[in-house]
Amino acid sequence: METTSDRDLPSCQHCREPGRTVRSRGRIDLIAELCDGCWNRLANRMAMDEGATAPPRPDPDDVIFVEPPNCVRCGSRFRVYPTVYDRWVNLSLAELPAKDVPPHFRWRLVNVASPYAPVVIDVFAVRVRGIEPLPGELVIPTHKMLCAGERAKQQSAEKSPDSDSNG
Ligand SMILES: [Zn+2]
Ligand SMILES: [Zn+2]
Repeated sequence: METTSDRDLPSCQHCREPGRTVRSRGRIDLIAELCDGCWNRLANRMAMDEGATAPPRPDPDDVIFVEPPNCVRCGSRFRVYPTVYDRWVNLSLAELPAKDVPPHFRWRLVNVASPYAPVVIDVFAVRVRGIEPLPGELVIPTHKMLCAGERAKQQSAEKSPDSDSNG
Protein backbone atom coordinates (compact mmCIF):
# COMPACT_ATOMS: atom_id res chain seq x y z
CA MET A 1 0.00 0.00 0.00
CA GLU A 2 1.33 3.36 -0.96
CA THR A 3 0.38 6.26 1.27
CA THR A 4 0.51 9.82 0.12
CA SER A 5 1.79 12.31 2.60
CA ASP A 6 -0.64 15.15 3.27
CA ARG A 7 2.10 17.54 2.25
CA ASP A 8 1.82 16.30 -1.32
CA LEU A 9 -1.88 16.94 -1.48
CA PRO A 10 -3.27 20.15 -2.99
CA SER A 11 -4.17 22.87 -0.50
CA CYS A 12 -7.58 24.42 -0.13
CA GLN A 13 -7.49 28.05 -1.24
CA HIS A 14 -9.72 29.05 1.64
CA CYS A 15 -8.58 27.24 4.78
CA ARG A 16 -5.07 26.44 3.43
CA GLU A 17 -5.36 22.88 4.64
CA PRO A 18 -4.08 20.21 2.27
CA GLY A 19 -6.58 17.43 1.83
CA ARG A 20 -7.91 14.68 -0.35
CA THR A 21 -11.18 16.46 -1.04
CA VAL A 22 -9.50 19.56 -2.45
CA ARG A 23 -10.35 19.98 -6.11
CA SER A 24 -11.43 22.54 -8.66
CA ARG A 25 -14.96 23.75 -8.08
CA GLY A 26 -17.40 25.32 -10.48
CA ARG A 27 -19.16 23.66 -13.40
CA ILE A 28 -18.19 25.98 -16.24
CA ASP A 29 -15.61 28.44 -15.01
CA LEU A 30 -13.22 27.58 -12.27
CA ILE A 31 -14.41 29.16 -9.03
CA ALA A 32 -11.63 27.98 -6.73
CA GLU A 33 -9.77 24.95 -5.50
CA LEU A 34 -11.42 24.07 -2.23
CA CYS A 35 -11.90 21.22 0.19
CA ASP A 36 -15.38 19.76 0.63
CA GLY A 37 -16.10 21.71 3.79
CA CYS A 38 -15.11 25.12 2.43
CA TRP A 39 -16.82 24.43 -0.89
CA ASN A 40 -20.10 23.50 0.75
CA ARG A 41 -20.06 26.62 2.88
CA LEU A 42 -19.28 28.81 -0.13
CA ALA A 43 -21.87 27.12 -2.36
CA ASN A 44 -24.53 27.36 0.34
CA ARG A 45 -23.80 31.03 0.79
CA MET A 46 -24.04 31.68 -2.96
CA ALA A 47 -27.25 29.68 -3.08
CA MET A 48 -28.80 31.71 -0.26
CA ASP A 49 -27.62 34.93 -1.84
CA GLU A 50 -29.02 34.08 -5.26
CA GLY A 51 -32.11 32.19 -4.17
CA ALA A 52 -30.90 28.86 -5.54
CA THR A 53 -32.28 26.85 -2.68
CA ALA A 54 -34.41 24.38 -4.62
CA PRO A 55 -34.11 20.69 -3.84
CA PRO A 56 -32.20 18.83 -6.54
CA ARG A 57 -34.01 16.88 -9.21
CA PRO A 58 -34.53 13.23 -8.42
CA ASP A 59 -32.57 12.18 -11.49
CA PRO A 60 -29.64 14.58 -11.92
CA ASP A 61 -28.45 12.81 -15.06
CA ASP A 62 -31.60 13.62 -16.96
CA VAL A 63 -30.54 17.13 -17.74
CA ILE A 64 -32.94 18.52 -20.29
CA PHE A 65 -35.96 16.37 -20.94
CA VAL A 66 -37.67 16.49 -17.61
CA GLU A 67 -41.37 17.05 -17.20
CA PRO A 68 -41.67 20.35 -15.31
CA PRO A 69 -43.05 19.86 -11.81
CA ASN A 70 -45.99 21.82 -10.44
CA CYS A 71 -45.52 24.28 -7.62
CA VAL A 72 -47.24 23.13 -4.44
CA ARG A 73 -48.09 26.73 -3.58
CA CYS A 74 -49.54 28.17 -6.79
CA GLY A 75 -49.96 25.09 -8.99
CA SER A 76 -48.10 26.55 -11.96
CA ARG A 77 -45.21 24.82 -13.60
CA PHE A 78 -41.56 25.64 -13.28
CA ARG A 79 -38.26 24.09 -14.20
CA VAL A 80 -35.45 23.02 -11.93
CA TYR A 81 -31.99 23.89 -13.20
CA PRO A 82 -28.55 23.24 -11.77
CA THR A 83 -26.36 26.22 -11.04
CA VAL A 84 -22.65 26.21 -11.74
CA TYR A 85 -21.98 25.71 -8.04
CA ASP A 86 -23.87 22.43 -7.56
CA ARG A 87 -27.04 23.97 -6.21
CA TRP A 88 -30.48 24.12 -7.78
CA VAL A 89 -32.89 26.87 -8.71
CA ASN A 90 -36.55 26.88 -9.76
CA LEU A 91 -37.03 29.00 -12.86
CA SER A 92 -40.15 30.13 -14.66
CA LEU A 93 -40.97 28.43 -17.96
CA ALA A 94 -41.34 31.77 -19.73
CA GLU A 95 -38.87 34.56 -20.30
CA LEU A 96 -39.73 38.15 -19.42
CA PRO A 97 -38.21 41.50 -20.41
CA ALA A 98 -35.57 42.54 -17.90
CA LYS A 99 -37.58 45.66 -17.00
CA ASP A 100 -40.32 43.45 -15.55
CA VAL A 101 -37.96 41.39 -13.42
CA PRO A 102 -36.20 42.83 -10.36
CA PRO A 103 -32.42 42.35 -10.68
CA HIS A 104 -32.28 39.80 -7.90
CA PHE A 105 -34.54 37.40 -9.80
CA ARG A 106 -32.91 37.54 -13.25
CA TRP A 107 -31.37 34.37 -14.58
CA ARG A 108 -30.27 33.04 -17.91
CA LEU A 109 -29.38 29.62 -19.18
CA VAL A 110 -25.99 28.60 -20.43
CA ASN A 111 -25.76 25.66 -22.78
CA VAL A 112 -22.62 23.64 -22.55
CA ALA A 113 -21.75 22.02 -25.85
CA SER A 114 -19.65 18.96 -26.25
CA PRO A 115 -16.10 19.83 -27.34
CA TYR A 116 -16.35 17.09 -29.95
CA ALA A 117 -19.77 17.63 -31.49
CA PRO A 118 -22.26 20.49 -31.80
CA VAL A 119 -24.67 19.04 -29.28
CA VAL A 120 -25.76 20.50 -25.98
CA ILE A 121 -24.66 18.20 -23.23
CA ASP A 122 -25.57 20.30 -20.23
CA VAL A 123 -27.59 23.34 -19.24
CA PHE A 124 -26.82 25.59 -16.29
CA ALA A 125 -28.70 28.46 -14.75
CA VAL A 126 -26.60 31.58 -14.16
CA ARG A 127 -27.67 34.73 -12.35
CA VAL A 128 -27.61 37.80 -14.57
CA ARG A 129 -25.14 40.12 -12.91
CA GLY A 130 -22.58 42.70 -13.82
CA ILE A 131 -23.72 44.52 -16.93
CA GLU A 132 -27.32 45.64 -16.64
CA PRO A 133 -29.42 44.05 -19.39
CA LEU A 134 -31.39 46.27 -21.77
CA PRO A 135 -34.98 46.86 -20.58
CA GLY A 136 -36.36 44.69 -23.37
CA GLU A 137 -33.78 41.97 -23.08
CA LEU A 138 -35.33 38.66 -22.13
CA VAL A 139 -34.33 37.07 -18.87
CA ILE A 140 -35.75 34.12 -16.99
CA PRO A 141 -37.32 35.01 -13.66
CA THR A 142 -37.16 32.61 -10.77
CA HIS A 143 -40.42 30.89 -10.10
CA LYS A 144 -40.32 32.45 -6.66
CA MET A 145 -40.81 35.90 -8.16
CA LEU A 146 -43.93 34.81 -10.03
CA CYS A 147 -45.31 32.40 -7.48
CA ALA A 148 -48.73 33.55 -6.31
CA GLY A 149 -48.47 31.63 -3.05
CA GLU A 150 -45.11 33.16 -2.27
CA ARG A 151 -46.38 36.65 -3.06
CA ALA A 152 -49.42 36.27 -0.83
CA LYS A 153 -47.18 35.16 1.99
CA GLN A 154 -44.91 38.17 1.57
CA GLN A 155 -47.78 40.62 1.38
CA SER A 156 -49.40 39.35 4.52
CA ALA A 157 -46.03 39.56 6.25
CA GLU A 158 -45.42 43.14 5.17
CA LYS A 159 -48.81 44.82 5.60
CA SER A 160 -47.33 48.25 5.08
CA PRO A 161 -49.89 50.70 3.65
CA ASP A 162 -47.29 53.02 2.15
CA SER A 163 -45.16 50.42 0.42
CA ASP A 164 -46.94 50.78 -2.93
CA SER A 165 -45.25 52.98 -5.49
CA ASN A 166 -46.25 54.16 -8.92
CA GLY A 167 -43.01 52.91 -10.49
ZN1 LIG B 1 -10.89 24.28 3.02
ZN1 LIG C 1 -45.55 28.75 -7.19
